[in-house]
Amino acid sequence: MPGTLTFDDLKSRVADGSIDTVLVCFVDMQGRLMGKRFHAVNFVETSFKETHCCNYLLATDLEMATPDGYASTSWQAGYGDYIMAPDLGTIRLVPWLAGTAMVLCDLLDHHTHEPVPHSPRAVLKKQIKRLAALGYEAKMATELEFFLFEKSLNEIRKEGFRNLQPISGYNEDYHIFQTTKEEDVMRPIRNHLFAAGLPIENTKGEAEAGQEELNIRYSPALDCADYHSIAKHAVKEIAWQNGRAATFMPKWDKDRVGSSSHVHQSLWKDDEAAFYDKPAKHGMSELMSHYMAGLINYAPDYTYFLAPYVNSYKRFARGTFAPTKTVWSVDNRTAGFRLCGENTKGVRVECRIGGSDLNPYLAQAAMLAAGIKGIEDKMKLAPATTGDIYEDAKAADIPQTLRAATETLRKSKFLREALGDDVVDHYTRAAEWEQEEFDRVVTDWEIARGFERA
Ligand code: ADP
Repeated sequence: MPGTLTFDDLKSRVADGSIDTVLVCFVDMQGRLMGKRFHAVNFVETSFKETHCCNYLLATDLEMATPDGYASTSWQAGYGDYIMAPDLGTIRLVPWLAGTAMVLCDLLDHHTHEPVPHSPRAVLKKQIKRLAALGYEAKMATELEFFLFEKSLNEIRKEGFRNLQPISGYNEDYHIFQTTKEEDVMRPIRNHLFAAGLPIENTKGEAEAGQEELNIRYSPALDCADYHSIAKHAVKEIAWQNGRAATFMPKWDKDRVGSSSHVHQSLWKDDEAAFYDKPAKHGMSELMSHYMAGLINYAPDYTYFLAPYVNSYKRFARGTFAPTKTVWSVDNRTAGFRLCGENTKGVRVECRIGGSDLNPYLAQAAMLAAGIKGIEDKMKLAPATTGDIYEDAKAADIPQTLRAATETLRKSKFLREALGDDVVDHYTRAAEWEQEEFDRVVTDWEIARGFERA
């Protein structure tokens, strides 16, 4: 791909002065890029080996609070350092910033130099390795939905996040004319990301005013998660550069549909589509049916990784294309899981449960773990459901609140075995903290409802 650089490429661009800054980044629990801006000369001479960051960065919430209750770090332990180890296979240009390149890092324990188990890249790499031991490679695509707003982030924050005006006036699902009006932001998003080495497929208007979707071609799971994180970051930055705001919050208005991040998944063996079996029903191999059975059966266990905040659960509403049931269907958008590419080599499963706020490494890892379990236990896939699944009383529900998803996560024997107790305990604490913070707050809704009338 254009835009990806070898370390030698980077060194020559630093030598000729075209690159002067290297963003050295890792991905935090919330899926954000965190790190430092290096002078490029320092990076290519020394820091390419390693740099350091405070280990509280994998034990904070969205607002960088330092909650208690994490085994990995604390005030008592003195909040020491992690090693940020640049993965030199991820160097790329950042074309929307002058003279800038980027590299993603793995986080290592400062003393043992082992991967930090709960760091999102390590969580995903572990499941990729388990799958490789079975002889398969996962390819995935995460669709990114988000809203664009008329005003800039600074203006919106100063106004207290009130009177939010999306960039357009009506539902723009697949609209060309409306999306032409947004090309000042969306065209640079597509082109800069492509020039940064991401295989961009397209953008399109989505089913609300100001709602957009960005599609990136399916790729090996780790690349897919890297692309997702970089693209989400770029969308926010490029919107900001253009005096606009972008939000990946899954439900910013109770009366509008929310934003999701559907995850398309397929397994491959020696570059052949292992989910495809031409003579079989739907062209679905036995392997795919086991994988899907695991995905569906364990969805309640890993819902937290698809919906990590209180707000995430506001998206799960009937009649909005956001699913509430753990069943599968063929090309039916009301089910939690949809079989796409029926009877073709592109046959795959799309999980529709995740919100635009998911951390792609954690979500993909949890789903891979569920699929692997389905394969290992040769789990049997129930028949496909049909019709409006919102109305299907027999179909199982996913947890409907963060509180419920926290409990299914905490008690998940399967996730404890697949991800490790330390990882499950870490994210269970993150989930509890999120709920505790919300429970402390008096909301506008409570005041408007009760101030006079209670
Ligand atoms: P739709 O129009 O229904 O959203 P698309 O054809 O745009 O479907 O595909 C959606 C996503 O699925 C794209 O990002 C595409 O790259 C991805 N995809 C296509 N084939 C596969 C596959 N075999 N495995 C995983 N993802 C795939």
